[in-house]
Amino acid sequence: MQMDDLQDLFVDQLKDLYNAENQLIKALPRMAKKATNADLKAAFEQHLEETRGHAEKLEQIFEKLGSSPKGKKCKAMEGLIEEGKEAMEEDAEDDVMDASLIAAAQRVEHYEIAGYGTVRSYAKLLGDNDSARLLQQILDEEGATDKKLTGLAESTINVEAAGRT
Ligand code: FE
Ligand code: FE
Repeated sequence: MQMDDLQDLFVDQLKDLYNAENQLIKALPRMAKKATNADLKAAFEQHLEETRGHAEKLEQIFEKLGSSPKGKKCKAMEGLIEEGKEAMEEDAEDDVMDASLIAAAQRVEHYEIAGYGTVRSYAKLLGDNDSARLLQQILDEEGATDKKLTGLAESTINVEAAGRT
């Protein structure tokens, strides 16, 4: 792809995020299924819905830009999901598995937070306020999910996993 300016880089980064979200739409149901703690299961299910919304918001942005969201594979998300899969195959006690699912999910959220922070800043700099607003909404949901996972880990799940001898 020809990269002449920040607008080109903006589109390229958005394509990467769009592919990452679509990989997550496939991975999150498996994580929800694997979770034992009811609150964790619900958190994954809720974030699956939000993730579908993220892909739709990105489609809205692409439509306005007159460009296709397709054409990139996010290798980093592929790697994060692959590691999550490996973790899910371990023979772990339920609470340890839940802690492991949180560890995998928080890596994903932090990756997304980094990516959306970047494109939100590009959108502002490019004077594309509609895109900046949509990207900020996604960023807020990724941040809230990360905080929710920290809350579940610290209040119960990691504490229970630590209690096992
Ligand atoms: Fe997302
Ligand atoms: Fe997310």
